[in-house]
Amino acid sequence: MAQENLEIRKSGISGNGVFAKKAIRTGETICFMQGKLCTLSEMIVVFDDDKKEGSDPLGIDDDMYIDLEELYRSINHSCDSNAFLKGKNELVALRDITEHEEITYDYSTTMDDNKEVIEESGAELWTVECNCKSRNCRRIIDQFKTLSKEVQAFYLKNKFAPDFILRKFSQ
Ligand SMILES: [Zn+2]
Repeated sequence: MAQENLEIRKSGISGNGVFAKKAIRTGETICFMQGKLCTLSEMIVVFDDDKKEGSDPLGIDDDMYIDLEELYRSINHSCDSNAFLKGKNELVALRDITEHEEITYDYSTTMDDNKEVIEESGAELWTVECNCKSRNCRRIIDQFKTLSKEVQAFYLKNKFAPDFILRKFSQ
């Protein structure tokens, strides 16, 4: 699986989404999320300048983010996702994905932002309304720590989250 097997198309969830051009098996690597590495403070500056509309930083480690390139930025969130982040930036199929199916991951599994740094800058922790239409939709996309104990346990037990989240939240 590589990025040639992915395509950006209009999504029923939100704006554009990323779709599989061929079937992907459970556990298969979908892609490595690409973009410019930056810290939270650097991300806030980018947002404040408002130069980069649609910028969508992916948390990959403590105070480390990727300012994603368009393809990766276009992957939508779902509360019932079919992919997850592994290690730092490897996107892996959580279950079998069929040809033409939209690829999604749970943004909350990558969100453990430092509230102090954000509030010092005068910004607020990022949340957004969810329109994923899954039966278990949480209606809002928020930090990992705001997820119910059951949902957290599901991601942690199965290791469906990047290392920095597993390290911090696993017992
Ligand atoms: Zn949802």
